[in-house]
Amino acid sequence: MFKFTRSRFLRQFVIGLVCVFMVAACGPSAEEAPEATEGGTSEAAATTLTVATEPAFPPFEAQAEGGGYEGFDIDLMNAIGEAAGFTVEFQALPFDGIIPALQAGTVDAAISAMTITAERAQTVDFSRPYFKAGLAIAVPEANTDVTSLEDLAGKRIAVQIGTTGAGQAAEIEGATVSTFDSAPLALQELANGNADAVINDAPVTLYAIQTGNIGGVKVVGELVTEEFYGIALPKDSPNLETINSGLATILEDGTYEEIYQKWFGEAPPELPEEAPLE
Ligand code: GLN
Repeated sequence: MFKFTRSRFLRQFVIGLVCVFMVAACGPSAEEAPEATEGGTSEAAATTLTVATEPAFPPFEAQAEGGGYEGFDIDLMNAIGEAAGFTVEFQALPFDGIIPALQAGTVDAAISAMTITAERAQTVDFSRPYFKAGLAIAVPEANTDVTSLEDLAGKRIAVQIGTTGAGQAAEIEGATVSTFDSAPLALQELANGNADAVINDAPVTLYAIQTGNIGGVKVVGELVTEEFYGIALPKDSPNLETINSGLATILEDGTYEEIYQKWFGEAPPELPEEAPLE
């Protein structure tokens, strides 16, 4: 047992220590407050970026067995972070929630096979293009009368909500368009015979067919669009330059090609420095 005087001394000592800690903890943290909000509002580029993705779009992003995410975009974003000196924390969001999240500043960036479009570029900033893709029409294997978008007039079309494919479908005369939260769900609707066609990113539809995830379905004709994917950021984000320079580094040092080979089994096509926008 401590004597009274000693425990009183100890108590005062502890109180004193607590005060010192409080001053030390409170003083600077007030100044650091702007930096602590990682919503893209800080002026300096952050060292951990929260990056949104909709992980039901293989081979670009998918839930990995045993947790976490995998795919071309996931490898690419991590490689960009490594090259540019930041770590990536992925956050799963519905595709149509990604741009609102960027605008609200609740995430720092998004990589989600997102096509660079003039309309989206009004509300978010895009990195330089990192992938060349395009939309393809998928129909039942036995179908022979659909070869172009025009042939879809009056048909039942399944699409993923908020996508460029959904945008194309909306312009087709007399079509009945049903929207789904993810591309696999739209493709399933087609496989089930409840839709006549799906308009979706070609690499994703082809991957679903090749991996056997979707049966009795084929891709018709030529690609109906040419699109380029970009990493999206809030307008005027301080991280845009960092991400672009990381991307430039891995395009140059062979890392990009390695990742492309891993997921697509072929050499990547040439990429423009800027996406052509209508
Ligand atoms: N590339 C398409 C778009 O940007 C689809 C993206 C996606 O579903 N992840 O609209």
